[in-house]
Amino acid sequence: MPNYAYYNQQFMPLTEAKMSVMTNFMHYGTGVFEGIRGSWNKEEQQVYLFRLKEHYERLLNGCKVLKIELPYAVDDLIKLTVELVQKSGLKESLYVRPLAYKSTEAIGVRLHNLKSDFLMFNLPWTRYLEAEKCRVAVSSWRRPGNNFAIPQAKITGQYVNSAFAKTEAIENGFDEAIVLNESGRVAEGSGENIFLVIKGKLVTPSANESILIGITRDSVMEIARNEMGLEVVERPIERSELYTFEEAFYTGTAANVAPIAEVDNRLVGNGEIGPITKKLHDNYLDIIHGKNSKYRQWCTPVY
Ligand code: PMP
Repeated sequence: MPNYAYYNQQFMPLTEAKMSVMTNFMHYGTGVFEGIRGSWNKEEQQVYLFRLKEHYERLLNGCKVLKIELPYAVDDLIKLTVELVQKSGLKESLYVRPLAYKSTEAIGVRLHNLKSDFLMFNLPWTRYLEAEKCRVAVSSWRRPGNNFAIPQAKITGQYVNSAFAKTEAIENGFDEAIVLNESGRVAEGSGENIFLVIKGKLVTPSANESILIGITRDSVMEIARNEMGLEVVERPIERSELYTFEEAFYTGTAANVAPIAEVDNRLVGNGEIGPITKKLHDNYLDIIHGKNSKYRQWCTPVY
């Protein structure tokens, strides 16, 4: 399979990218990562990488948080990503995983006096949320807030919280979790942001509700306002609001726009995919495949 990696400042087949068991970040979660989608446009025989600039701005902000200094600016990272996919030669939808991390081979939990490095690799795309419509439940796990973590950064160590929530949901027979923040208000899924449709308006937790500020979230808000004339409201959402709205969906690079059919064993609407969710989903898919010229600036062609 043509999976490629950029590792130790070189491109190589993914199977050749090997790391020492003593690498600091593996032990202490001192890495920051991204997930980037490449969508295959069959008519144009082209792969479009979605919103690279925003992904790498978020990554570099996370690097600052972790005191990781990289010899790359956003534009360098964009160029490397395009080159990676070109080298792999993939002509299908794909996923790119960049990771900046503490690379010193040393035991000791800290951020200072450690070397940093950057790697990335690509894989063919696979569906992330298996259900076409998700049955979800409120998690017993809370998303750590600003004094315990940096919710706005994709720090590897913080993802153990997402892992707890995801596995609890699956083992209890659901597809995904709704994770509340420390104040008991709605934050997000284990790896997705969440939107509700309430009285025809799109409602999503505000940026300061201990969420990751998703790039799909931002895209969907723009599409809803500009293409569908919807009012979009960012505000705190109480848990008690979770049972009585018309539609709900998750957003994320991996999840796309993923409809929610049931919350805590209560149907959302009539349990079918709602019209606003469907329209947003279809618009979003067109845009990431480079099929809407108005949004081409979000799409970087590989070939
Ligand atoms: N929240 C969390 C916790 C996530 O891991 C992700 C996936 N990156 C998201 C939300 C959605 O973010 P994005 O739309 O940028 O992929």
